[in-house]
Amino acid sequence: MDSWPSVAVPRLPGQGLPLRLHDTGTGTVRETAPEGGTARMYVCGITPYDATHLGHAATYLAFDLVQRQWRDAGLDVHYVQNITDVDDPLLERAAATGEDWRALAEREIQLFRDDMAALRVLPPDDYIGAVEAIPEIGAAVEALRAQGDAYAVDDDLYFPVSAAPGFGSESHYDRDTMLRLFGDRGGDPERPGKRDALDSLVWRGRRPDEPSWDSPVGPGRPGWHIECSVIALNRLGMGFDVQGGGSDLVFPHHEHSAAHAEALTGTAPFARHYVHAGMIGLDGEKMSKSRGNLVLVSKLRAAHVDPMAVRLALLDGHYRADREWTGGRLPAAEARLARWRAAVALPTAPAADEVLAEVRAALADDLDSARAIRAVDRWADAALGSSGTADSSSGGPLVRDLTDALLGVLL
Ligand code: ZN
Repeated sequence: MDSWPSVAVPRLPGQGLPLRLHDTGTGTVRETAPEGGTARMYVCGITPYDATHLGHAATYLAFDLVQRQWRDAGLDVHYVQNITDVDDPLLERAAATGEDWRALAEREIQLFRDDMAALRVLPPDDYIGAVEAIPEIGAAVEALRAQGDAYAVDDDLYFPVSAAPGFGSESHYDRDTMLRLFGDRGGDPERPGKRDALDSLVWRGRRPDEPSWDSPVGPGRPGWHIECSVIALNRLGMGFDVQGGGSDLVFPHHEHSAAHAEALTGTAPFARHYVHAGMIGLDGEKMSKSRGNLVLVSKLRAAHVDPMAVRLALLDGHYRADREWTGGRLPAAEARLARWRAAVALPTAPAADEVLAEVRAALADDLDSARAIRAVDRWADAALGSSGTADSSSGGPLVRDLTDALLGVLL
């Protein structure tokens, strides 16, 4: 599937630091250590039935920062993202509104691309839809079945969690928590005929009123977790550097995706870091479709809000923290953006070597973007407050390059 247009990333003097990131699997902040000069990252993409809200944007911005720090550290990056362009929520929405599910998906994917491009999120190298990946997913489900790691319930196929010795090592949740989250997030713990309530669907057999595709295991469509396992595995291999997504994907999605991949290959781990972004709330509630409290990126764009201000507003907080989107955030970010732009436009301004080092250090430390922003603030305050006393150097161009390359904020 076509991704969105990329943007040039300025090269900065010197080199960035090794990136340290929080890993949900070990519960620690650890250095990422890509091998062979290329960092490999998979981030779970959207189910295209509703427009990009600020919660999505915050997640993709976090992983955009990952890619930018790796590049600054001299690494190449192989970034893969999927689109779950056939799944229950999409089909349910299309049925409710009477729209063709493909038309709905196509429209929302294009809106997402436009939102990502406006926010200057670097695109994935491989942007893969579930539908286009069905042949490879079908082959993987057949492989699971052939090795005894998939069983039938009626016309559907399930993965037994007993086949995954490492099951639970990503989320570390106890069984009661797993059962609750599985039921809340698309699982079917109550379905009769399953060997274990936590076993997950890998292939849904054909239903008369749903789209289906032929496969070695019969007609139907893939489950959600196996979709990501296979798309990642076939492009990045096992042991890739970062598996990313929002914190609502910790369980069951990432736990099951890893379990499927580990059963398919007989090796572990699926990913070396499992990295999760916090949720964005509005008026004390998590922003979500079901609550109807979404702030849409496309609506902000249509209201002529500068996407760079949206980006700055979302980065002014730690990616792992659940954060509130309050009315003051956007005006504060717009004011900051104006100050930074005024400062870099000055003919003379303080040297920027120190701010570059500070921003690199902050972002390498588990993406402390708020600390990075404070460092640029201090430089801008010094530049704007020191007319006539600024040293004769001109730090403006370097600050413009570093906010662009490291924070993705174009001044
Ligand atoms: Zn996924």
